[in-house]
Amino acid sequence: MEKLEQLYEGKAKKVYRTDSPDLLIVDYKDDATAFNGLKKGTIGGKGVINNQMSNRLMQILEQHGVPTHFVKELSQRETLVRKVRIVPLEVIVRNISAGSFSKRYGVEEGMVFDAPTVEFSYKNDELGDPLLNTDHALALKLATAEEIDTIRNYALQINEILKQFWLECGVTLVDFKLEFGRMDDGTIILADEISPDTSRLWDIKTGEKLDKDRFRRDLGGVEEAYEEIMKRLVDHETK
Ligand code: ADP
Ligand code: UDP
Repeated sequence: MEKLEQLYEGKAKKVYRTDSPDLLIVDYKDDATAFNGLKKGTIGGKGVINNQMSNRLMQILEQHGVPTHFVKELSQRETLVRKVRIVPLEVIVRNISAGSFSKRYGVEEGMVFDAPTVEFSYKNDELGDPLLNTDHALALKLATAEEIDTIRNYALQINEILKQFWLECGVTLVDFKLEFGRMDDGTIILADEISPDTSRLWDIKTGEKLDKDRFRRDLGGVEEAYEEIMKRLVDHETK
């Protein structure tokens, strides 16, 4: 597989064309941003960890029947993925209140929900990824009703699989963000990444944050937290 020209550079990854029209190479960077790009920094080693973690988690999801864009890990930071047309929705699943949910609804972080919530934001940096409901997504023609149904069901299935996996690693899955895409035939698959950049992961015993909130909130020990969460995943695999 040949790596051709760069198609896009985002906040956390670069995307390259390949000699196959159906495949892309993503290259994970150490760059970190928060608050819609207002806060910028780097987290040493993050690109390697996010690449490897996302790939392992997507392989677990595949084993459970969830289709993903993952094809092959090419190097520490690079992965071959199926090219999709991204559905411009950020799909957020929550098990416990935190972040923007706590802020918006005036509740403390750590409120355990009876059932997971699924929410959608319009993936649009200029607008700051505004929250929207299904009717809004349909009005804006971001996806069809059938696609939204498929996405919601996958999101909830992914939550059950990942919640159980992280539990076995001694970690509470608080919330996470997913992106889905359409293949040429219209099939919806999971794309983008699943990592400590896009998930809230708390140590089950101490409640310690092992995710990007350490960067967002200047809690210190950012690199160490990424290393620790990766170690939990590797230890689980060698158990
Ligand atoms: P952002 O664009 O938010 O700054 P990244 O730095 O992670 O995010 O850039 C990666 C980009 O690639 C995102 O826009 C994401 O939607 C897109 N993407 C992820 N997976 C795929 C895929 N399989 N096919 C096409 N685009 C993808
Ligand atoms: N998230 C993300 N990208 C975004 C917004 C949120 O990956 O653009 C993730 C975030 O890491 C967290 C979950 O989605 O795990 C819920 O985030 P929230 O809505 O609380 O927003 P935040 O306060 O983190 O901006």
